[in-house]
Amino acid sequence: MRDQADFAKKVLAFLSHLDEDDAGPDPHQAAKQLGIPRQDLIVLSRNENPYGPSPLVGAALQDGQFHRYPDSRPFLEALAGYTGFSPEWLVAGAGMDEIISTICRIFLGPGDRALIPVPTYNFYALAAGLCGARPEYRTRIVGSAMDPRLPGLKMVFLCSPNNPTGEALSEDSVRSVLEKTDAIVFLDEAYIEFAGKSLAGLVREYQNLVVGRTLSKAFGLAGMRLGYAIAPPWIAEQYRRVAPMFSISSPSLAAGTAALDDLDWMKECVRRIVSERERMRAKLPCALPSQANFLFLQTRGKSKALAEELLCRGIIVRDCSSFHACGERCLRVTVGRQEENDRFLEALEILDGKKD
Ligand code: PMP
Repeated sequence: MRDQADFAKKVLAFLSHLDEDDAGPDPHQAAKQLGIPRQDLIVLSRNENPYGPSPLVGAALQDGQFHRYPDSRPFLEALAGYTGFSPEWLVAGAGMDEIISTICRIFLGPGDRALIPVPTYNFYALAAGLCGARPEYRTRIVGSAMDPRLPGLKMVFLCSPNNPTGEALSEDSVRSVLEKTDAIVFLDEAYIEFAGKSLAGLVREYQNLVVGRTLSKAFGLAGMRLGYAIAPPWIAEQYRRVAPMFSISSPSLAAGTAALDDLDWMKECVRRIVSERERMRAKLPCALPSQANFLFLQTRGKSKALAEELLCRGIIVRDCSSFHACGERCLRVTVGRQEENDRFLEALEILDGKKD
């Protein structure tokens, strides 16, 4: 009988070069290990909206025609109302991760290169690499222009506000990338509702720009897996040819449509989160300014050890060591509810030795 090693050789070589993406402890597992109920654990590691979705979502989930294939049109129409782009400019997917994978499958093949300013969301490198493309990492320099010229370059990934650092790109810097390259530029705006201004309007000017969005953050629907993109119609058309026709379930579509029908709820969540973000930042000199629903902290010692100590106190944050080019002294902490944030701030003060 042949053993596993014979077959393991068939795994794509690219995967052995990929950084291990460690999203941190699983909350259910962690609560079990600590011997505390799941609801007593403070989860500040996943950039979720702690207030959840609009109450309209619960009502929308009551009347499902679950024996029918899903109909995405009402959701796309609701998105059109929200974004100001008509449905021919919109595509939807099961989370923005599916959007990213599909866009990569349309444009990238073996030998192509994808430019990824780091540190940033790890999934771009995985999605590009799985298409056979080579991720080209460039260190982000905040406020300075990036030169996207590179032979064989097919895609550029930009993230604004950026995960994990929280800073947003200026319109000038995005325009300058678009002017200098004929590659497809994917601008990830997962956290845009927490920032100032979206740059999605540029999609009308540049035929090579795709803007990715999600309902996982400001709309509080991470568990429903709903993402979308604003793209020039020629790209949206290709997208519809390549993506699975029914990848978003009926309950998710119903939830998304209801959430988009209650923008007041989303805006109130954003208002509270932004106010908490600024309150926390004022108490954390080690945090960078952020335009997202999280803060990026520079730690004195190893961030992994600090994250473990916080975990022992029932608080999960994201150690950023697994982000490419992030180093070993950075933490990302999601802005939670006021009482959760206070527990985090207090634990950090104790661990910093300022209090006992
Ligand atoms: N882009 C960024 C920058 C993210 O942080 C995330 C989720 N953490 C995503 C995309 C994927 O979001 P979704 O939940 O819609 O798949």
